[in-house]
Amino acid sequence: MISVMILGNCCIINHLYDLKKQILLIRMYLGPFSSKPEILMDSVIHQKRLIDYKIRKQVLSFPSCFQIQTINCCNGHCLMCPKQQKTEDTGEVMSKTLFLKILKEIVEENISHTLIHFYLQNEPFMDHDILQKIRLTKELSKNKIHIELVTNGTFLSEKVIKELRDITIDIFVISVDAYTKITYEKIRRGLDFSLVLNNINNLIKQDYRGNIYIGFVEQKDNFAEQQEFKKYWRNVARRSKKNIYPYITQLSNRSGDLNFFDRITIKNNYVKQIHTKFMHKLIPCSVPFLDFNILANGDVILCCNDYYKKTILGNVSSSSIKEIWNSPKYNHIRHLLINQKFHSLPVCKNCSHFSYS
Ligand code: SF4
Ligand code: SF4
Repeated sequence: MISVMILGNCCIINHLYDLKKQILLIRMYLGPFSSKPEILMDSVIHQKRLIDYKIRKQVLSFPSCFQIQTINCCNGHCLMCPKQQKTEDTGEVMSKTLFLKILKEIVEENISHTLIHFYLQNEPFMDHDILQKIRLTKELSKNKIHIELVTNGTFLSEKVIKELRDITIDIFVISVDAYTKITYEKIRRGLDFSLVLNNINNLIKQDYRGNIYIGFVEQKDNFAEQQEFKKYWRNVARRSKKNIYPYITQLSNRSGDLNFFDRITIKNNYVKQIHTKFMHKLIPCSVPFLDFNILANGDVILCCNDYYKKTILGNVSSSSIKEIWNSPKYNHIRHLLINQKFHSLPVCKNCSHFSYS
């Protein structure tokens, strides 16, 4: 009897701790996004799913967070991205039929707080129809689905910027990663600093209505510029009276797929150390409980960090999203992760976010 009570209390304490951890994670990862209440609510709901799984041992029957690669291509060779190792950059564009099938399935489920990231290991604006796809998503879902887009900013031409005036992208991140041109060229190799800054300035001038997040992945080469970077973009926001936010994120080793990780990561990062050493021991990775990642050819990968496609869970051309999401293979992975058996999973065993070594 005593041991049952102790066990019960431990569970309650664990769940309370989970909740604290969820809030911390939300604050850590969302940063400026918390200024948008509906996006913050998306995240709260998504994280709640993980807690539900821990309590009820049951995953909800449909994902609420999607990453869709509409084109398998990128024009950059960034230092902190396995894409520069040219992992299968095939240029394949997702067929319209497949895109519509996916969208129809998501819209029909009508899950509240659904978020679609219209990028996955690519530069989304290399797909010339990307804005049309976003517009269609908003129309079919009656604006219920939220959209996130991360771009390197190269293709934000005047024509694209004009089109953007009629579209709401809920989270629009333009990656810059540097305050100076020298650092930019070291990190964002093959891309043009002046062009990107010019495009952002045009976007600001052209009355784009949504929030703009200027991305900065913290690493050795840009660490010293971080404060200047933040100051610069805050000043731009103040001067233009627009919602522009510097958005700092941590470097990932992309499930071990990034060759240069040890050379470019900041080892003495306090937040990262705490996160890696303690937090992941309390709660496992949330990705397989929330996210559904679809490549241009329809293959579903477990994690957006899996650049070498170590774990493919099915293909949405021949199966429905629901079938894949609820498959024994997916559930087995969830079971391993929730029990912290990261080492049994080829994708996760070397992941820097949740490494157990
Ligand atoms: S970080 Fe983005 S822009 Fe750079 S290589 Fe990777 S996918 Fe391309
Ligand atoms: S633990 Fe696995 S699923 Fe989670 S982020 Fe790392 S590689 Fe992805």
